[in-house]
Amino acid sequence: MPKAYLTIDDSPTPETKDLVNFLTARDIPAIIFVRGDLMEKNPHAIEYAIQKGFIIGNHSYSHKSAGEMKYQDWIDDLELCDNLIETAYQNCNLPRPKKLYRFPYIDRGDGQKNEQIDLATIKENDQTLPLQQYLHKHGFHQPFENMPPTYPNKAKDCLYTFTTRDWMLNKKHLGNHNIKTIDDLMARVDADKNLQDETYNHVIIMHDQLGLLDVSCALIDYFCEKGFIFQN
Ligand SMILES: [Zn+2]
Repeated sequence: MPKAYLTIDDSPTPETKDLVNFLTARDIPAIIFVRGDLMEKNPHAIEYAIQKGFIIGNHSYSHKSAGEMKYQDWIDDLELCDNLIETAYQNCNLPRPKKLYRFPYIDRGDGQKNEQIDLATIKENDQTLPLQQYLHKHGFHQPFENMPPTYPNKAKDCLYTFTTRDWMLNKKHLGNHNIKTIDDLMARVDADKNLQDETYNHVIIMHDQLGLLDVSCALIDYFCEKGFIFQN
């Protein structure tokens, strides 16, 4: 059985609670990467997820590309979101289990939007290294174990091995990309040879975006149908 970590980006939305309930009913753990600006609009959604045992990761405050920001602005933006996460855990009276960070668009500081390219090509450089050092110094790490050799294990941010491209079905993007239906998303799962490899664990990226709830639920059920085991 292939094992995978489920990671959900861009949370929260008014649908987050329903998504959390869906996952809870199936006993599926997930890391939910939140945007600070959206957390302010929906303060209780993330506290609800914390109470249900989900791990909350930092996905920046404003969801800007790190490569387009000055170093200090990137830090300020990350910390703004991190303070909201700390407060959410405090409001729940629960300790924050780990500090996790995922770059918006997987732009790790050099302007490469890695969400749309091959993970194996990711390399640290003069632009990404200072950000990696900041993450390391402040206790951020990636929590994934038994990753394939192509996965950059030394990276302090949370990368992925498979990105579902579910965002192509959100209201803003629907019809503008090669993926136009839930069937297209499922076909992408089937077509990915690496996903069939049971030697290593997988890290799957999905999104909690407005209007995507039905898509998310159908796709998660599809992964389960295919025998995937989601783990913490
Ligand atoms: Zn995002």
